[in-house]
Amino acid sequence: MKADLHNHSYYSDGVLSPTEVVQLASQAKCDLFSLTDHDTTDGIAEAQLEANKLNLNLVNGVEISAFWRNMAIHILGLGIDINNDVLQTGLEHNQKLRKERAEKIALSLWRSGIKDALEKTQSFSKTDMLTRTHFAQMLISEGYCKDMKAVFRRYLTGKKPGGVSVEWKGFDEVVHWIHAAGGKALIAHPLRYRMTNTKIKKLLIDFEGELGDGIEVVTGTSTEVEVKLSNQWAKDYNLLASCGSDFHGWPNQRVRIGNLRDLPDPEKAIWRYL
Ligand code: AMP
Ligand code: MN
Ligand code: MN
Ligand code: MN
Repeated sequence: MKADLHNHSYYSDGVLSPTEVVQLASQAKCDLFSLTDHDTTDGIAEAQLEANKLNLNLVNGVEISAFWRNMAIHILGLGIDINNDVLQTGLEHNQKLRKERAEKIALSLWRSGIKDALEKTQSFSKTDMLTRTHFAQMLISEGYCKDMKAVFRRYLTGKKPGGVSVEWKGFDEVVHWIHAAGGKALIAHPLRYRMTNTKIKKLLIDFEGELGDGIEVVTGTSTEVEVKLSNQWAKDYNLLASCGSDFHGWPNQRVRIGNLRDLPDPEKAIWRYL
């Protein structure tokens, strides 16, 4: 079973169209694939059309920004009904927060001498969704930084120019949107937050049981040790396991679709329960 259940298109901060992303999944011989754009399901109709053509099994997905305590985390919704009103109302709320944040980022950049950031950044997005990645691309192209890592460090985070915090909805509410739409809710890339392992375990304790369904045990950049650790957490907190590359299609990214380490416990794989 080759599954890749976490991928982005240009409907959020990926660079490829849903059609192109599905084509890559098919070329990589994925049996199961999910498009999980940030806070939108708008790319799924196009992905489904291409998946039908190529006979690829597509799982409807989304990656939703949420708050746990006062920290931003990402919750994956897999196997969702994209026509569900509760889910779409929630996603519209997040899209509104993103619009407001984009304006605040532009204002903050303007104060440090970077003019017309909103207009310039818009030209890097194929839709009206503006993510920090789009601002990052603009800042690199304008010569302020040389790569993504540097641009996020020097801009767009914390108290740096362009650093603007957003008050996302609490993760319990976000899980409710996903469950209302018949989907499974999973903590995305648990090892990529700026949290100690002790903190992550607290997050998982709050998530297990009534609330959440799973965690991403394997992502595109996971080492063997990281897979082992996340899998242990899945076991400890009785959560299902998922795997997804978090592919964005950025030119210098090494991550490729369908090129993932195996799940240590395939019988606990999320796709058995979708
Ligand atoms: P946003 O959801 O608009 O806050 O943007 C977050 C996205 O920016 C993430 O999903 C990543 O794709 C990207 N990102 C965040 N931090 C970094 C980083 N340090 N280096 C590269 N990309 C990052
Ligand atoms: Mn992203
Ligand atoms: Mn994420
Ligand atoms: Mn992602």
